[in-house]
Amino acid sequence: MFSYRHGFHAGNHADVLKHAVLIAVVRHLTAKPTPITVVDTHAGAGLYRLDDDFADTSGEARDGIFKLRETHPEAPLLKDYLALVAGFNRPGELRIYPGSPFVAQHLLRQEVPDRLWLFEMHPTDSKALAAHVEQLDAGRQVRLQRADGFEQLKAHLPPPSRRALVLIDPSYEIKSDYGKVVRALQDGLKRFATGTYMVWYPIIPRPEAHELPRRLKTIANQAGRPWLHATLAIGQDEAKQRQGLTASGVFLVNPPHTLKPALREALPQLVDALGRGRGKGQTLEAS
Ligand code: SAM
Repeated sequence: MFSYRHGFHAGNHADVLKHAVLIAVVRHLTAKPTPITVVDTHAGAGLYRLDDDFADTSGEARDGIFKLRETHPEAPLLKDYLALVAGFNRPGELRIYPGSPFVAQHLLRQEVPDRLWLFEMHPTDSKALAAHVEQLDAGRQVRLQRADGFEQLKAHLPPPSRRALVLIDPSYEIKSDYGKVVRALQDGLKRFATGTYMVWYPIIPRPEAHELPRRLKTIANQAGRPWLHATLAIGQDEAKQRQGLTASGVFLVNPPHTLKPALREALPQLVDALGRGRGKGQTLEAS
């Protein structure tokens, strides 16, 4: 059922958008001295090699982080993202790519009890994730379960820290993921209205994908919570027959107030760096 393996996609344009935003949100939350919890419902393998067969099959990072790095963007959000990824690599190299668990963990603090809860259902990925997490020697800071992230979220909200980010980043291979994301946000806001929620989604010609941001906005509005919605499209590569994923979006509830101005500066630079052809562009809206 789960043929999706994030390794093929690591470092692509969608990861660039998702992880740059993730960094900005975790940085904002860790700016205050009180502890935070990051809940990653679909964690993936945690670390990826950009130079092995798995990533090479599609070379998606070449149209993502590699291209961005060559343009030396000025926006602090993008500089911060590139610097954080560079920190996982030898100077000048780009062989290792951190997934969301490692991006988040990198920013958590040891001196306060920040926590990271990871859920991953795929047997191979959860095994890889467990091995990667073990190397961190992070002790009690990171908790990992091979389990359904949608189900687990219900049992884990609100977290004891009362300040938290919930990242919901499924593979959307199964149509039912769209409905599950909507219900997870709805239920999450009932249990923990002040949490920051971040949903990543693919922009593909499928009614469920098209409707998702509208449904998420309705839930946030009904709960009386602020939201932010950003999209990035790299457009068509006329030389390629198979385009793969060309656009994606992130939808946040209770976003940091600093995120909108940061994205206003960063998104046009992302389009300049990664845009390929017909259909390229970005959008940014917030309540
Ligand atoms: N969040 C990761 C990152 O940014 O590095 C990428 C996650 S990838 C898009 C989605 C992951 O969800 C895959 O590794 C897949 O095996 C896993 N998965 C699929 N359904 C799941 C479920 N119900 N609960 C937990 N993990 C699931």
